[in-house]
Amino acid sequence: MKNWKKGMSLLLAVIMCVAFAACSSSEGGGSAEGGSTPDNLPSDVQAIVDRGVLRVGVKSDVPNFGYQDVLTEEYSGLEIDLANKIAETIGVDDVEFTAVTAATRGQLLDSGDIDMVIATFTINDERKESWNFTTPYYTDAVSLLVKKDSGIADYADLSDKVIGVATGSTSMEALIAAAAEQGVTLTSAANFSEYATYPEIKTALDAGRVDAFCVDGSILSGYLDDSVELLESIRFAPQEYGIATKLSNTGLAEYLDDLVNTWLEDGTIDQMISDNGAAASFEG
Ligand code: GLU
Repeated sequence: MKNWKKGMSLLLAVIMCVAFAACSSSEGGGSAEGGSTPDNLPSDVQAIVDRGVLRVGVKSDVPNFGYQDVLTEEYSGLEIDLANKIAETIGVDDVEFTAVTAATRGQLLDSGDIDMVIATFTINDERKESWNFTTPYYTDAVSLLVKKDSGIADYADLSDKVIGVATGSTSMEALIAAAAEQGVTLTSAANFSEYATYPEIKTALDAGRVDAFCVDGSILSGYLDDSVELLESIRFAPQEYGIATKLSNTGLAEYLDDLVNTWLEDGTIDQMISDNGAAASFEG
């Protein structure tokens, strides 16, 4: 009788241990390295799986990163491949892309319209207060696109010029700081003109309404043509791109960070960068 009771309590203890382990692994969130299954995903990732659609904010006007073909409406680029790979990993067949700009991407995350932003979104301290960012999957530097006959070669040449930048981007602040380091004063009122989209800035450059187009080199290289050039001499402010999520989606943020780290280590991201011709042409 005594032995029988002992046996039962041992069995009960084993059952409780197993139940506890299963429970804590589902609450702790699946680690990408551990090979998450739909059984142990964090609840905010599970919600996406249950919905059956992954909603991602991407650029539509940045060739090689996030670009939408006007005729086919198909998206392509490094950031599109990343989104598709995330969907495949969590077991969701449908990916819904929403075109975002530097000015709209944060609001769309906050409102819950999209689950994540993968859109040349530079990680910085101020933004980290508003959104979660993964480990960077790409690093670039800011540069300038100018007309070939512009005569602009250095920061000093910019003091009487107007530079086109995207609203909500880091570009204006970064250029003001880089010029100041070289003793050149640029001001937002005198030297900058803000636009909602990159094609609008390129049109303004072509039409002579701005003298230079300033943003990350990776974005600018998508706007190269016979009449313009990227300035080799002006490259500054390394821009690290991370996948952003709503601040409250901590399970999703950790899950994505695990994925990015895994894909950085195993060469998946390098492969995607070269498949998309997205290699940075210079160091930040
Ligand atoms: N990467 C920069 C930023 O996050 C440039 C603008 C953009 O990505 O749209 O501000």
